[in-house]
Amino acid sequence: MEHVTQLTKKHLEDFFDDKLQDYQCPCCKSKEKPAIPTANDEEISFSLLDLVDIAKNNSESKKVLSTPALPLICQNCGNIYNIATYVILRHFS
Ligand SMILES: [Zn+2]
Repeated sequence: MEHVTQLTKKHLEDFFDDKLQDYQCPCCKSKEKPAIPTANDEEISFSLLDLVDIAKNNSESKKVLSTPALPLICQNCGNIYNIATYVILRHFS
């Protein structure tokens, strides 16, 4: 699989079952499965993680890359964390 637009909710559920069986929220230690944000309960929503070159003068820092990430939301405490989508894509390649 080469692109995030190919990922379905079923792929993410399979990824969870394969890779995150021992999932635990890093904040509250809940073992409840985190929510995956979707539109219309089907289309997966992503966030973008910006990678930057930090300059000594912060105003001169430059964005070098944006990479899509999958935000996961703890249903107990609301903690949000991201999984790099390239790892998920690689899992299905
Ligand atoms: Zn939590």
